[in-house]
Amino acid sequence: MLTQIDKLLEENKSQMYLDFEKIVNINSFSSNLDGIDKALNALVDIASEKDIELQKVYSSKNVRPHLMHGKEKEKDYFAFIGHFDTVHPASSDFNTYIDEGDTIKGPGTNDMKAGLIVALYSYSILKQLYPNRDLPIKILFNSDEEIGSTDSQEIVEKEFINAKAGFIFEPGRIGGEITVQRKGLAALDIEVIGKPAHAGVAPWEGVNAILASCEIIQKLEALNDYENGIIVGCNEIHSGIARNVVPPYSKITVDVRFEKMSQKEPLYKKIEEILNTPTTVGAEVKYDLHLNRPPFEKTEASGELAKLYRSIAKKLNYSCEEMATGGGSDGNFLSAMGVPTIDGLGAIGDFSHTKKEYIVKDSLVYRTKIFVLFMIDLLENN
Ligand SMILES: [Zn+2]
Repeated sequence: MLTQIDKLLEENKSQMYLDFEKIVNINSFSSNLDGIDKALNALVDIASEKDIELQKVYSSKNVRPHLMHGKEKEKDYFAFIGHFDTVHPASSDFNTYIDEGDTIKGPGTNDMKAGLIVALYSYSILKQLYPNRDLPIKILFNSDEEIGSTDSQEIVEKEFINAKAGFIFEPGRIGGEITVQRKGLAALDIEVIGKPAHAGVAPWEGVNAILASCEIIQKLEALNDYENGIIVGCNEIHSGIARNVVPPYSKITVDVRFEKMSQKEPLYKKIEEILNTPTTVGAEVKYDLHLNRPPFEKTEASGELAKLYRSIAKKLNYSCEEMATGGGSDGNFLSAMGVPTIDGLGAIGDFSHTKKEYIVKDSLVYRTKIFVLFMIDLLENN
């Protein structure tokens, strides 16, 4: 089997890089809907060359197109999930595929167009290894992961509820690490309403929204508990009118993260207590606290998947540890539905979301090989 896989990879290798180059060279910044459409069509073509049908799908909100394969499968399937949007605007000067020998640089190389290539070629090779079997694989490539998957979340929850296991093709870390745990993310938006007054004539008649905000921020930041995976970051504030006006209003944007679902309620309660009882006399506080991504927790079943993947990587002499991260992905939704999920199965590289983003060139091929062997094990033993 291994020699057959090596042979198929060797035959496909140059096309893999060509396909990768093609999709990296199409700007698919999340809000560039024209580019999103072009990238989507290129992916449909790349997949159809491999006899994989990717269909355009929409959520009930009908906001933007995503791609799916295997929509008709109802249960006992494996979920392959990735995104084709990036954080790089079309106007950026970082907009082409650059082959630098050992590495490939370019927008969305690492995060995560290489992962899409790994997923599609793995599936294509599996189809060639099992020509007579309808493989239990369902794929979603969405176009809004970088902006919180607010549109595609509904598709993940509807289409993948019965998945046997979930595989997310976000990048692996530079040491080959895969992701088994991600923090949950909530957004907290606070408005503090004070009262304007002339700073020289009658400042005592005003209510200083900046002062009230500072008091709130001190208390919120005190909730940080990095050791137990809790982050409350007051990371943006807008306030003030002029030097001589008591500020009547401020807006605070807070990033809230936690490791386990069981931490959510107690943390929310503490946050709400602080916001419901401002200490600055006369200040009024309004807020919105909502969950963006539930935590992606490591379970016994996902631990088994990680163990299997790592043992295959190690047999092939590639280092592969497990890691936890504070950043979210679509694996958070899948994992929160109880689907055993592992993440970081794309190529390996670094500097996502910057102009230094790259992948290690040959990892595109060997991560495909590891994943194919991993899938064979699951298909043979299930
Ligand atoms: Zn990503």
